[in-house]
Amino acid sequence: MDEHLKEKRLPQNLPEDSLASLNQFGDRIFIYPAKVKGLWHNRRKYLHFVLMVIFLVLPWIKIGGHQAVLLNLPERKFALFGLTFWAHDAPLTFFVLATLTIGLALITAVWGRVWCGWACPQTVFIETVFRKIESFVEGNHIQRRRLNESEPSFKKFVKKTSKWSLYIVASLIIAHSLLAYFVGTDRLLEMIQHSPKQNWVPFLIILFTTGVVLFDFGWFREQFCIIMCPYGRFQSVLMDENSLSVAYDIKRGEPRRGIAEDKSSQGDCIDCRKCVAVCPTGIDIRNGLQMECIACTACIDACDEVMEKIKKPKGLIRYVTESEMTGKVRNILRPRVIIYSFLLVLFIGGLGFQVSHRQSYYASFVRALETPYKLTALPDGSPSILNHFKVTLRNQEFVPMHVEMTFQEDDIKKYQLKLTSPYNPTTLAPGETKKFHIFVNFNESLTGNLGSAKIPILIKSSLGSQEPVIESHHLSVAGPRK
Ligand code: SF4
Ligand code: SF4
Repeated sequence: MDEHLKEKRLPQNLPEDSLASLNQFGDRIFIYPAKVKGLWHNRRKYLHFVLMVIFLVLPWIKIGGHQAVLLNLPERKFALFGLTFWAHDAPLTFFVLATLTIGLALITAVWGRVWCGWACPQTVFIETVFRKIESFVEGNHIQRRRLNESEPSFKKFVKKTSKWSLYIVASLIIAHSLLAYFVGTDRLLEMIQHSPKQNWVPFLIILFTTGVVLFDFGWFREQFCIIMCPYGRFQSVLMDENSLSVAYDIKRGEPRRGIAEDKSSQGDCIDCRKCVAVCPTGIDIRNGLQMECIACTACIDACDEVMEKIKKPKGLIRYVTESEMTGKVRNILRPRVIIYSFLLVLFIGGLGFQVSHRQSYYASFVRALETPYKLTALPDGSPSILNHFKVTLRNQEFVPMHVEMTFQEDDIKKYQLKLTSPYNPTTLAPGETKKFHIFVNFNESLTGNLGSAKIPILIKSSLGSQEPVIESHHLSVAGPRK
């Protein structure tokens, strides 16, 4: 084997804290993780499968007539499990994002990088789809390494072409499913049935997304977690010595076989390097907690299998906290967990409040600045006061809305109320905002000596063919003071 190739495989001259996937020349060392079996692997395998099915099926499920999850950025409209909102619903958007961010921070503070190993799409798709295709076409980790390092041949060409063709199919499915979250399944089906010429932008987005998925899941893999992932960068500040992580029990394991001078002082680690062989980021967990560890638990299973064979207790590598490793009791209720939990409850409460108080429409009435009122006369010649209001009406639903403004019958008679506007009644398209003027006439018994009063204005709204809903708002009217 060529010397350079050998060195690419074995970065022995590098310091312990250098990246396991780079050699001393700065070239990438490809990682060929060995297959792993065991309790944690099974748990992750089932969860990954469920998550993948959810990802593929969710856009096709409708709740309350809307796609279960829709993030339509071009039209700035969103649907989350029956809840619909627009980009202009700033408080709702804030509470959704804040709940997700603080939720992830809390999970990290308690369970460490559980997101990376168990639920991140990067891990789920690589482990469930891409590595499965790779092993199916090219064989186990040893056969894959041999194939990659072998000279070009017809067999190698066939295997590589088959593998990348299957990768392309998987990437296309993932890219289309992803697009469904952003444009909606109805629009996606429509686009698939028409020529790309009619949908240039989505077509180019699909091509780009497929390319990114193919590059990342097919080739870049652990490099994304190590070099690019923003969460991977800041998770270290969210964790402390009481956060759970996958760790090697150094007290129990050391001195490992070959290092111990006599057999009786030998630790439980037999230096078989199986934990390293299965690691998807190529690290040796025995060197301590490392930024590259995505807490995938593969090394736990690999080591447990070894411990079972040599008749030692399992758990030389296990889920544990740093404080437990040093013999202390794990402290769950620590300041950061309390603060994150408090914030999470606050944001969930804010979200609940926003959802429960959200109306199908938004309405505001602002009295025009130029003159607070005008003295005028009604057609029958009786004196009247005229107020001018600027109205903003916004349809917050995904269907057209018919809106009509009026006053209560008693008030109309008593105060000779009259509302004049070219936009009453009016119809608002989904998400549409209309700004217009209304003029309100009333007699002076309404404002009396004070020169001001609040009068209920009724907004009758109906969505599509649904029954109208009547809600009352207050209108502040002004007249002369006596
Ligand atoms: S060290 Fe263990 S848990 Fe961490 S990435 Fe490697 S195999 Fe997974
Ligand atoms: S798998 Fe366990 S016994 Fe083998 S090297 Fe890793 S820690 Fe040591």
